[in-house]
Amino acid sequence: MAAVGSKSRNHKLRTKQAPKQALVPVRDVTAQFVAARTRKLQEIELLRLGVQKRFIKLVNLLGNAFLWHKNNKSSYFWLLAGYDSGTYSARAVHAAEIDIVGAENWQDDLDAARCGLCFSQFTILNRKHHCRLCGCVVDENQNLDRSCSAQIPAALLIQKLPQLNYAPEIKGSWATLVEAHTAEQRLARVFSFRCCKTCKNLLLHDPKLRLQLSDDPTKLFTTYQEFLNLKAMVSNLFVRYSEQLESVSLDNTKMLMLRSKLVEYIKELEKKGGFFKAMLTSVGESGLELEVPPLLVSNMYKTSMMFLLDSIQKLKDMNEVQEALSKSPSPVDSVDARAQSPLEVQSPPKLSKREIRERREQLMVINEQKFLVEDLIEKTRKQRKFDEVHTLEESKKDLEAKIAELEEELGDFGF
Ligand SMILES: [Zn+2]
Ligand SMILES: [Zn+2]
Repeated sequence: MAAVGSKSRNHKLRTKQAPKQALVPVRDVTAQFVAARTRKLQEIELLRLGVQKRFIKLVNLLGNAFLWHKNNKSSYFWLLAGYDSGTYSARAVHAAEIDIVGAENWQDDLDAARCGLCFSQFTILNRKHHCRLCGCVVDENQNLDRSCSAQIPAALLIQKLPQLNYAPEIKGSWATLVEAHTAEQRLARVFSFRCCKTCKNLLLHDPKLRLQLSDDPTKLFTTYQEFLNLKAMVSNLFVRYSEQLESVSLDNTKMLMLRSKLVEYIKELEKKGGFFKAMLTSVGESGLELEVPPLLVSNMYKTSMMFLLDSIQKLKDMNEVQEALSKSPSPVDSVDARAQSPLEVQSPPKLSKREIRERREQLMVINEQKFLVEDLIEKTRKQRKFDEVHTLEESKKDLEAKIAELEEELGDFGF
């Protein structure tokens, strides 16, 4: 892989000059990526350990309360009224819950006008709830998919987290507690608590497991590098293939060889596209803001898919030309066929509908990338990292050149 900061400008140009070059120089940000990722994972790990510690304390508290009420056969009325005295009265339990989170973390009801997660305004119907693991005030969205908090039976959570270091009383009554949610409703509620989405995710999902990148954090970038190499090879093969089609003496063996190679590489391209798509889904699903910007993965995906579709269409067009050529035995006919071939029609700026659509899509993606780069330039300039600003300015110029090229090609068909 190319060294960090290698002059990556105009790799498109370079590929043209030296079509057989297999490696496409790119700016390698793997090291930065790994460092940022490690930092982020350490942050998340700290948060996760904090939530886990409070969860254990909460299970100890609520588990003991549940067992006490169960053994004392607390009446429905007792639980309903939430008697004010005794270790396991509703009031005492509530005070202990605040202690677990820490009074300083228990968000003041009056402070919160909006849900801390989705920023919906609180109303009489959209009520305030305190997360018992972090103390923030959140709402309970009725739409389960985007529910910010829920009253979760602790029994379901301890089933999923049996390995944690709970108090001996909890471990001693394990069989009873994992069934607690099946008890009579009022009693079952004692061993349940309000939990926000973030805490639930932190508690149940080890982010390292969640993000498939973990086995090899550089996989995204190595795959993109492989994609760029493939792209260069495919472009080069297309040039050679069309040269064959246009040459006066057709070499069928050579042409078939080129075509089968093209097919093979295009299949590889398809696999890379599939990888970026899977990656995009995994980044989107993780729910936590991890260090991979979804936009970056999404651009990689779009770039790979666009090139793939383009290549498939090009191969189809060329196959048609080739078929037409092999059907026409007389050299005069073959000249005619070639004159009509899409390869030659392409040189004047007359584009088919498909080509216009593709160029427009490409233009959109590049504009998006340019926007991203401009944003980065501004941030980097504020941080006074002028070396990086320079590199970014160069990539911006590249993008602008490409935009100009596309706009010229599109002519009146542009936006
Ligand atoms: Zn909310
Ligand atoms: Zn929380």
